[in-house]
Amino acid sequence: MTQKANILLIYTGGTIGMIKDFETGALKSFNFDDLLQHIPELKLLDCDIDTVSFKNPIDSSNMNPSYWKDLASIIEENYNAFNGFVVLHGSDTMSYTSSAISFMFENLSKPIIFTGSQLPIGDLRTDAKENLITSIQLAALTEKGKPVINEVGLYFEYKLYRANRTTKINAEHFEAFDSLNYPALAESGVHLSINYDALYKPNRKKKLKVNYNLESNIMLIKMFPGITKETIEHLFANPTVKGIVLETYGSGNLTTEDWFIEALKQVLKKGIVVVNVTQCSGGAVSMGLYETSVALKKLKVVSGKDCTTEAALAKLMYLLGQKITPTSFKTIFETSLRGEMS
Ligand code: ASP
Repeated sequence: MTQKANILLIYTGGTIGMIKDFETGALKSFNFDDLLQHIPELKLLDCDIDTVSFKNPIDSSNMNPSYWKDLASIIEENYNAFNGFVVLHGSDTMSYTSSAISFMFENLSKPIIFTGSQLPIGDLRTDAKENLITSIQLAALTEKGKPVINEVGLYFEYKLYRANRTTKINAEHFEAFDSLNYPALAESGVHLSINYDALYKPNRKKKLKVNYNLESNIMLIKMFPGITKETIEHLFANPTVKGIVLETYGSGNLTTEDWFIEALKQVLKKGIVVVNVTQCSGGAVSMGLYETSVALKKLKVVSGKDCTTEAALAKLMYLLGQKITPTSFKTIFETSLRGEMS
């Protein structure tokens, strides 16, 4: 007889567990125990489920690295006792948190599946039940006694994605997430269909290491035609900033105006890391392809390749928190660490 899988369900907050405040009409978080009362179906699943909740569940717009660390330590403390983890999280910043968790967990060999919903669990038309139930099933999935999923995933509206490849693309549709540069890891229809080729292959001989040191002094600058010299110089002069993610055009292109190249040279000279990611939802940065990215290549700006902005920010926070020499930083950043880039 095979043993039932043990799943830890962690509630951080988000719409999935919200109710309407009768006075204001606004959605606010409520007690996690009530959440379970709304889904008696959970008892029918062929696994044992334990639950833990943030003391004060949050709307994920209030998420920050301090909560990421709280979440990481809940998972680390329970890592050996459970076969898999399901994290209930608001959809607004779910791609950021799940990307960060993917970098924080080195040598992960168990599933950590993030999910949430667009409508509260108590709503008649809710998408929460399917999202939650299938996420638990995916986290409990084993083959030859080993978990099938060995990475941080994000399950929403019938699709499981590699979390650090996702972006929230719609504020209204049930299909709220997409992963434009990497295929879905699994799809839920009449059967659960697993895309085995796309799954992350763990090295089970390596011990789990959880990295809590994240550098928050970073900046995201979305470039636009007309951004002024004064704005760029002001942003680049920030004395606390250690790294910048620049969201550029198309395949990593930017203005070739002298003032911009000069400002970039100065910021790089100070030892600040600059990462180039594209504003496009899909595709990759390829510096040197157009004249408008040749200077960036020459200046050794780091290529974010086909990383999402969310993953690039999380990777930058993670790598700046590690003891990496400036000479190897570019090479390490441009290497896929958790399947976040091709
Ligand atoms: N504002 C909510 C949150 O991100 C939206 C959601 O849960 O989907 O917490």
